[in-house]
Amino acid sequence: MNFDTFLMVDWSGGNDRGPTPKKDAIWVCAARDGVADAPVYLRNRQVAESWINTFLLDEQAAGRRVLAGFDFSFGYPKGFGQALTGTDDPFAIWDWFENRVKDSPDANNRFDLAGEINAIFPGIGPFWGNAMKRDIPDLPRKGLDRADHGMTERRAVEQVAKGAFPVWQLSGAGAVGSQVIMGLPLLARLRRKHNVSVWPFEPLTAKVALVEIWPSLIAQAVAETQPGDRIKDAHQVLLLARTLSALSKEDLAALLDVPKTVEGSILGLNHQDMLASAAMGPPKPPPLRNDCFAMPQGAHWTPVDDALTHLQGHLSAVTSTQMVSLVDAAGCFLAADAVAQRAHPPAPNAAVDGYGFAGPATDGTQQMPLVAGRAAAGQPYKHDVPPGYAIRILTGANLPNGVDTVVLQEDVSASATEIAFHGPLKRGANARNAGEDMQAGDVILRAGRKLSPADLGTLAAAGVGEVTARAVLRVGILSTGDELREPGDDADVGQIYDANRPMLCAIAARWGYDVVDLGRAPDDRSRLREILDDAASRCDVILSSGGASAGDEDHMSALLQGTGSLALWRIAMKPGRPLALGVWQGTPVFGLPGNPVAAMVCAMIFARPALQVMAGGDWQTPQGFMVPAVFTKSKKAGRREYLRARVEDGRAHVFGSEGSGRVSGLSWATGLVELDDPAQKIVPGDLVRFIPFSSFDI
Ligand code: AMP
Ligand code: MG
Repeated sequence: MNFDTFLMVDWSGGNDRGPTPKKDAIWVCAARDGVADAPVYLRNRQVAESWINTFLLDEQAAGRRVLAGFDFSFGYPKGFGQALTGTDDPFAIWDWFENRVKDSPDANNRFDLAGEINAIFPGIGPFWGNAMKRDIPDLPRKGLDRADHGMTERRAVEQVAKGAFPVWQLSGAGAVGSQVIMGLPLLARLRRKHNVSVWPFEPLTAKVALVEIWPSLIAQAVAETQPGDRIKDAHQVLLLARTLSALSKEDLAALLDVPKTVEGSILGLNHQDMLASAAMGPPKPPPLRNDCFAMPQGAHWTPVDDALTHLQGHLSAVTSTQMVSLVDAAGCFLAADAVAQRAHPPAPNAAVDGYGFAGPATDGTQQMPLVAGRAAAGQPYKHDVPPGYAIRILTGANLPNGVDTVVLQEDVSASATEIAFHGPLKRGANARNAGEDMQAGDVILRAGRKLSPADLGTLAAAGVGEVTARAVLRVGILSTGDELREPGDDADVGQIYDANRPMLCAIAARWGYDVVDLGRAPDDRSRLREILDDAASRCDVILSSGGASAGDEDHMSALLQGTGSLALWRIAMKPGRPLALGVWQGTPVFGLPGNPVAAMVCAMIFARPALQVMAGGDWQTPQGFMVPAVFTKSKKAGRREYLRARVEDGRAHVFGSEGSGRVSGLSWATGLVELDDPAQKIVPGDLVRFIPFSSFDI
C-alpha cells in the first residue's frame, strides 16, 4: 500500500471563479516524499477534470502510484443507494449522478436533480436548500421544513467528524451537498478512465487510489502555518498533501484501516493528533522502511558493487526541508531545483576597459570621434552613441544604445576627443551578450546538489537569494566494547583506547554533518538499548563500530535482530567483516566493524554515499585514477581489496603491512589502492587505481 504521489483536491460545487486565483474555488496540490509542488488554482470543474486526468496519466506513465484525496463525501447515509438505485453498491449512486448531472462553467442542474430525488422518497426531503430564485418542486428551502423522508441525517463517520455538514444540505454557508452531487460524476469518470481503487469500498490495489478527505481535520495546523500571501484553500491542500506524503508506511496504513461501509469514510478521522503533529512539524520525508537493508544473501559473499547498488536503490532523504538564505547555504543539499530569477548578464556589457562603438571595424587604421561622458559598471550611459562615434567604456558597463563592440584600451591611442586603433575587429568583440551565461527560468542547479562556494556565486548572479535546502543530517557516533578506554585515561594491558570514535566523528564533520557524540557503550545489552533509544531521538542516522558480528558479545547485531530489521552483510571485501545494518525506532544504524582500519574503509566505501543520500544528496562514486604500482601483490578472485596507499613520484606505494589492526597505516596513507574483484597479480609498473582520501571528502 505504498504511494509515491499524494494529490489533494479541494472541490467546489459552484460556478466558474474567473482567471485570477480566488478562495472557494478548486485548488489542487501534489506532494512526494514530504516535498509539495506549488498549489494549482483551477477556475472551474471542466478545467479541473482535464488537469486531474492529465496529472494521473503523467504519474502513471512515470510509474508512480497516486493517492488522490477529494474533500467531499463519497457516499450517502445507508439506505439512500438502495432507495435511489435498487442496490447498496455505492458506485451505483456515482453512476446515477454521472448519467443525470448536466454541468457547464456557468450553470448546472443540481437543485432540480435533488428535487427529483426527493420525489422518490416519502414525506419531504431528504435534500434541502435552494440557491436559485425560482422554487424547485419537492426541494424545501429550509431544513426544518423536511419530514418523514426516512433517511438518517448523518453518515456514521459524521457522528465522529464534529462540524462536518450533512450531505443533504445543498446551499448556505459551509454546505457540502452540492459539491457531492457535482463531484461524484467526476469520480465515476476517473474510475473508468484510469486504473483506480476507491477507499474504503475496495482494496487499494490499483495504481490510483481515490480517498475522501476533510481538510478541517488539520484546521489548526493550517491556521498556524499559513503564509500571509497564500489563500487558505491553497494552503490546506498543500499542507495535507505534504503531510500525508511524509507519513511512514505504517502511519498511512493506520489511517486507511477503517471498517467496511457503503457510506464512505474520512481519511484521518480518529487520528487527528497524529495528523496534526505531522502537519505542524517542519516538512519531513517519510522514514526509511524497516526492511531497507534486507538484501538477498546466498551462500556466497556479496560483491561490493551489489551492496552499493542495494544502498543506492533503497535509501532516500530523511531530513526535513527549509528555506535557507544564500549566505547560510554553503554545504547544504538542495531539496528543490534552483531556477534563475533573471538572465546573467542581465544586459549586454563590456568585457574589458576600452572604447565602445558599432562594429565591425574594417582593416586598417580606424579613427573615431568620442562622445562626451562614459559608461561604467552601475553607471550606464543613458543616450544613444551615434554611428561612427565611440565612447569610453569600462568593464561590466552595459553597452549603450549604438554600441555592440569594444576595443581594448591598450590597443588604442586616445586624445580627449577622439581615438585611433588598427582594425580589423569583429562585431561583438570584447562584449558579453545578455543571458549568455544563464537565462531567466533556467534550472541552474538540480535538487540533490551539495552547494559549493562556486554554486553560491552562480545562484547569486542569477538573482537567487534563498534556496529550498535540507536540514543538516545529524550523525550519531558510537563505539562499543568493554575493552575500550578514553584516549588519555589510564588503561591496563587488557584495555585499548577508543580509536574509532574520534576518527569517525572527524570524518562525519568533514562530510558536513552535525556530529552527535554518543560515547562508548559497554558490552551490555540493556545499556546499549538505552543508548540507542536516546540516540534515535537525537540523530538521523547512527554509525557505530564494534559488536557487529554474530558472536556472544555482538550486542549491536543482537539488538537490531530483535527489531526485525537486522541485515548482516557479508561483503566480499578486505578489510571488512560483516556490516550490521538495521533500523532502530526509525533511525538507520550502520554497524561498522570494530577494527579501526576496517571501520574507516567501510565508512568511506559504504557510509559515505549512504549518508549523502539520507542527507538529501545525489549518490556519489569516488573518483580514482590509474598509476603504476611499485609493489608486488597477488590476490584471489572474488574479493575487492583496499590497500592503504600513497602516491609518490607518480607511483603508488602501499603500506608495509596489510594487518587491519595497524591503524598507523591509515595516517601514513593518503588514499586507497582499489583492487577489483577478479584475481590479480600485480608487479611493479602495473597500473592500479588510486583513490585519494580527498575523493572521499576526507
Ligand atoms: P569487534 O567488532 O567488537 O569484535 O571488534 C573487533 C576488533 O576491533 C577488536 O580487536 C576490538 O578491540 C577492536 N575495536 C573495537 N572497537 C574499537 C575502537 N572503538 N577503537 C579501537 N579498536 C576497536
Ligand atoms: Mg567488541
